[in-house]
Amino acid sequence: MSYIASVLNFVKDRNPGEPEFHQAVSEVLLTLEPAIKANPIYEKYSILERMVEPERIIIFRVPWMDDQGKIHVQRAYRVQYNSAIGPYKGGIRFHPNVNLSVLKFLGFEQTFKNSLTTLPMGGGKGGADFDPRGKSEAEVMRFCQSFMAELYRHIGPNTDVPAGDIGVGAREVGYMYGYYKKLVNDFTGVFTGKGLSFGGSLIRPEATGFGVTYFAQEMLRKKGEEIAGKKFAISGFGNVAWGLAQKINDLGGKLIAISGPDGFVLDEDGISGEKVDYMVELRNSGNDRVEDYVKKFSSAKFFAGRRPWEVPVDVAIPSATQNELDVADAKNLVKNGCKMVVEAANMPCTPEALEVFRDAKILFAPGKAANAGGVATSGLEMTQNSMRYNWSREEVDEKLQSIMKGIHDSAYEASEANGAPGDYVLGANIAGFTKVAEAMLAQGLI
Ligand code: GLU
Repeated sequence: MSYIASVLNFVKDRNPGEPEFHQAVSEVLLTLEPAIKANPIYEKYSILERMVEPERIIIFRVPWMDDQGKIHVQRAYRVQYNSAIGPYKGGIRFHPNVNLSVLKFLGFEQTFKNSLTTLPMGGGKGGADFDPRGKSEAEVMRFCQSFMAELYRHIGPNTDVPAGDIGVGAREVGYMYGYYKKLVNDFTGVFTGKGLSFGGSLIRPEATGFGVTYFAQEMLRKKGEEIAGKKFAISGFGNVAWGLAQKINDLGGKLIAISGPDGFVLDEDGISGEKVDYMVELRNSGNDRVEDYVKKFSSAKFFAGRRPWEVPVDVAIPSATQNELDVADAKNLVKNGCKMVVEAANMPCTPEALEVFRDAKILFAPGKAANAGGVATSGLEMTQNSMRYNWSREEVDEKLQSIMKGIHDSAYEASEANGAPGDYVLGANIAGFTKVAEAMLAQGLI
């Protein structure tokens, strides 16, 4: 049995009941063959076995009281996955489906994603099975404070720097950062995604969506094409979708479909200008249904319980959550002439959907490369905090653009060097992996 196959078996046996983690590990390891063959030292020093095991996992209880005085107990985690190239870095997710498998998959992906940014950040991820939907502001604050009352002892600006993710936005980061500061009596850059008045970076909220669009632009340029004139469908209407909507419009693309958990909205006139503002307004009102959009704009139609992947578009950007785009969606996209799929969420396409795209030779960008603009801008926030300085919007945007171009080029070059030009999955995995592997080798057996 090959080295890779034996490590995959080992991961499955050792981590029963963790399907998302198995999926993420398989997706990476199955593309590493050329790098492993060319560098026997990785096997000799058991690099893969060490990489598939998080360095540390903290699991803790978070008790909190609701507005009626009833006590609830959530389970929370911080997976400190890999610190070979920098302090653990990655978001915190509050969602009822958060469990160890989901957070280990996210921490694993984050390690390679952060490596691709070229900034010195290791990989981590955390969260809790808390559902912020329908909770009052006071309940959310009490939960964040109770969460931080334990987490604070495990993080630090040079140890582990959390940020937001699904269910954790500027408000939650503010509450968690505030409580951290109170406990440790230290005003320091321990969180990213902070408010602008207390160390946050311009562009951070829209950075993931901007970065995905810049990445898509680079892929199209390589083919002699451009974003202008292309039709886009995206899922979700949170922060990532907001950044995407702005930048797609800026670059002359036409966004015609967005979605929420209740269904999708099709607006053939294009979702731009005040419609994008309304999308944000809807989301900020605590509403996670997109149906209201059609009440406001008569050019749009709402399709209850359906996904935007049935609409004919040139580019599809899944931006909501893991495994949201399945094999039937992939076949629909291919049938309708979709030319490119770019993952804005983490692992949004199922392995079977990926196979459909591969067989159809569709241009495909994996999330760990395409959506790295969010964490890259977090890295820029860390730099600004260390310097005690704030860059202008233009300065941050320029750095973000050049980081995204760098990620694109290193993934493309790695795909070429390993005999699969244009395979961004293989290229991103090998480029991200190599840097971490080399750092681990250099630091000895720790
Ligand atoms: N949660 C985001 C991600 O998946 C951002 C993490 C960060 O900024 O640390 O990459």
